[in-house]
Amino acid sequence: MNSITGHTRLTALLGSPVAHSISPLMHNEAFRQLGLDYVYLCFDVTEDTLPSAVSGLKSCGIRGFNLTMPNKNKVVELLDELSPAAKLIGAVNTVVNEDGRLIGYNTDGIGYMQSVKDAGYDIIGKTVTIMGAGGAATAISAQAALDGVNKLHIFARRTSRFWERTRALVDNINATLSCRAELHDNDDKEALKNAIGESALLLNATSVGMAPNTDASIIDDTSLFRKDLIVSDVIYNPRETKFLRMAREAGCPVFNGMYMLLYQGAEAFRLWTGQEMPVEHIKKMFFDE
Ligand code: NAP
Repeated sequence: MNSITGHTRLTALLGSPVAHSISPLMHNEAFRQLGLDYVYLCFDVTEDTLPSAVSGLKSCGIRGFNLTMPNKNKVVELLDELSPAAKLIGAVNTVVNEDGRLIGYNTDGIGYMQSVKDAGYDIIGKTVTIMGAGGAATAISAQAALDGVNKLHIFARRTSRFWERTRALVDNINATLSCRAELHDNDDKEALKNAIGESALLLNATSVGMAPNTDASIIDDTSLFRKDLIVSDVIYNPRETKFLRMAREAGCPVFNGMYMLLYQGAEAFRLWTGQEMPVEHIKKMFFDE
């Protein structure tokens, strides 16, 4: 148990719902392990209450906070500055309070890219296929492009509420970075076959297959899984989605979204404290079965 003092610095998660989150366990244990006088709390905050919550926490001198659903987009208009990735993504999951200036970052993509490295792969300079156009897909696409992935194929439903936003992201990547990005319709099976055929890694960044709908998979044609294709999922509940099971059974190396969750938190921890989260310890405590 952390002991709270008059010097204790506050960090928090603002979202709704938040009670189930693993973030307080991971951050408070990391603070305790490093002897840092910080605490991390969860506050149930909706888009309606976000402006007053942010203003109040800023007045109280909060060191920083994370945002989760539904607040990652709305918070952008409440901040003083955005990191390059947060600007490209248009969403923020981590805020740092630098002497009253609120600076927004997005560590979801950094978390995913670190989880790729952690699994033992190098995708820099290679081609990647990403299924999805929501928050997770956008953060990962932008970070992958910033980090030097050579080509990105992004697949979304033509009817997606995120289609135009993703079109703008793709145009932005092509205009400002060396990465080549292409947006395709999920229903274009030929494009999907060709994209996966030239990709080193295939990622499910949709919510398809997440509990309780564990019988669904974003891809049903198992002939697309070749043995040297790395296949991963942002979902961590269940630990193995139907998509990952099908890929594993086809002989592909696979990994899930657990360590993306860990490393997005580790990056927020570093931004707030200036210290590295003791990730091996946190993995053993909360992530590894
Ligand atoms: P989101 O912004 O709501 O986006 C959901 C995406 O899934 C959209 O592109 C949506 O497409 C697509 N989708 C949903 N049902 C579909 C279907 N039946 N067929 C095709 N596409 C479908 O959600 P998010 O924040 O990106 O989260 C997505 C998943 O990532 C969730 O499972 C979440 O738990 C996980 N996640 C994991 C981490 C981590 O740290 N591991 C971090 C963030 C999120 P439409 O727009 O067409 O509906």
